[in-house]
Amino acid sequence: MTDLILIGKQGCGKGTQAKILAEKFGFEIFETGGALRSIAKEDSDLGREVLAITTRGDLVPNEVVMKIVSDFLSKINAVSPVIFDGIPRSEEQRISLEKLLEEKGREFRALEVRLSDKEALERLSMRAKCEDCGANFGSKEDVCPKCESTNISRRADDTPEAITKRLENFKKFTAPLLSVWEAQGKLVSVDGEQDIEVVTQEILEKLGL
Ligand SMILES: [Zn+2]
Repeated sequence: MTDLILIGKQGCGKGTQAKILAEKFGFEIFETGGALRSIAKEDSDLGREVLAITTRGDLVPNEVVMKIVSDFLSKINAVSPVIFDGIPRSEEQRISLEKLLEEKGREFRALEVRLSDKEALERLSMRAKCEDCGANFGSKEDVCPKCESTNISRRADDTPEAITKRLENFKKFTAPLLSVWEAQGKLVSVDGEQDIEVVTQEILEKLGL
C-alpha cells in the first residue's frame, strides 16, 4: 500500500479520516504539530533544537521538519504505509518531502478533502472543548453535549480574523500543490462536507481500497 499525503483546510475532518484509515489499514500517522510537540520533549540534539525554536515562537525551518520526518520513517516498520497530515505546507516542503520519500523507496498518493471557505469558517468558529469531561464538539452554545457542563473553552486562534488568515495562507501556499499532484496523476479528491462515514466511503472507493 502506498503512503497518503492528506491535504485540506483546517476543519475539513482529515484528522478524523486519518484515524479511521489507520485503524482499518494499519497506516502510521505522521501529524506535524504532534510530532514537533513530542520531539521537543526528547532528550536529544534534535529535541533540544526543536524546543529552542518553538520556545522562541519561531516557525520550525524546513530542514528541521524533514529531519523529523526522516527520523520517524527510520523508526517505523519499513513496510507500514504512512499518512502525512499537515505536511507539506509549501512548494519547498513538497519538493523535499517527495525527495525523501523517493530516497526511502516509498510511493505516495495525495488525498484532498475539500471544504468551502464558508463551511470551514463556520466549523472552526463552532469548535469548542468541555473543560470538565474533555469532549471536543461543535456548537455555538456553551453547553457540553456529553455531560451538560457549561465549563466550555474555545481556542484563542479560532477568531474569524485568525481563521480567515489561515484560509488565505492555505490558498496561497498549500492549494498550489494540488495542481502539481494532479498533473502527476497522484491526486484524489473527496467532498469533505458530507457526513464522516460518507467521506470515508468516498475515500475508499476513489483509492480502490
Ligand atoms: Zn463535558
